[in-house]
Amino acid sequence: MTELLSLAPDAAQAALADWLAGHAEPGYRVTQIVPRLWQRPAGSWEEATDLPAALRSQLAEALPLGRLTLVTTQLSRDGTEKFLWKLADGEAIESVLIPEGKRRTLCISSQVGCALGCVFCATGRMGFRRNLRASEIAGQVRELILRDAGAVPTNIVFMGMGEPLLNWDAVDTALTILNHPDGFGIGARHITVSTVGILPSLAQLAKRPEQFRLALSLHAPTAQLRHELMPIEKKYALPDVVQALSQFRRRVTLEYVLIGGKNDSLAQADQLAKLARPLGALVNLLPLHPGGAPDLTPSDRPRMIAFERRLKSHGVEAVLRRSRGLDISAACGQLRVELEARRKVRAEEHARVE
Ligand code: SAH
Ligand code: SF4
Repeated sequence: MTELLSLAPDAAQAALADWLAGHAEPGYRVTQIVPRLWQRPAGSWEEATDLPAALRSQLAEALPLGRLTLVTTQLSRDGTEKFLWKLADGEAIESVLIPEGKRRTLCISSQVGCALGCVFCATGRMGFRRNLRASEIAGQVRELILRDAGAVPTNIVFMGMGEPLLNWDAVDTALTILNHPDGFGIGARHITVSTVGILPSLAQLAKRPEQFRLALSLHAPTAQLRHELMPIEKKYALPDVVQALSQFRRRVTLEYVLIGGKNDSLAQADQLAKLARPLGALVNLLPLHPGGAPDLTPSDRPRMIAFERRLKSHGVEAVLRRSRGLDISAACGQLRVELEARRKVRAEEHARVE
């Protein structure tokens, strides 16, 4: 069955035109129906009351609109809101909405779990379950719009569960849906793909003409330390990743989670500056959230500030991010892991009682 919501808008339009022609419907219906996919999303064809009832039920039968089911949401004291969605096959993924002044940034997932096992990451500890389809990636935005009476997020970051560049085909299409005027129409400069640096797909992303932003999860200034924190270093080594970034025509952001006593010394700030400066990269310093390996601790505040200052003293642009949504475990992957842990505890309690 064709899934319109997993197609880029042009392809969806073509598929729909074919289907309508086959059902002896007038051509102008296309322009009535396509906006209900993303621009003014319909929760179901039943809700598209500007269409004749017979057509609505035929559409529901032949081209159903897949939905994500909201399992739970958590609202942080700082306004960050976290969503746990259930997919058609029972898997669960997360998105996080971060309001900041006029901005509303939605952090979305690209896979269920992640195969890459970075030691500090809750999703990494969960392991890999499956790739998301384009409809499930863009669907996180669609559901939010349905819920918030049409309010489209201003910014999208692929910083939820999963490694987007290991699910390139679906992410490629989802990027088009997010950005296309017949999709959600979010400016490419407001859409950020975060990756550990999967080189073949990075080259594909670089080929796209739109100015999508790129964030590289670096977390260590040397290959040796990166290897300790991020197993992917074995496959795509730091020097090659840096080389690839230098050929990316756009400015990149380097993501660096500060881990106490691991990667937060001033000497490491010097090494990081050496790497970031020639790239003209912006360094995003992130406080470590819990959920990864239990022996890791966040850097203390004075150390974070000193690290940031040291980078700046080398002429590197660096931003120390505030921790958002700590009280709701908003580092991605944490809500699902937390719910599963709770369920496990409950199951164990039951087992003890019985
Ligand atoms: N797989 C991609 C995108 C998802 S992870 C990637 O790794 O870039 C998104 C961001 O969350 C990454 O920068 C990642 O390093 C960060 N992250 C993961 N675990 C974290 C934690 N425990 N605390 C803070 N940030 C974390
Ligand atoms: Fe996967 Fe990114 Fe987590 Fe690493 S940080 S395990 S790549 S989701």
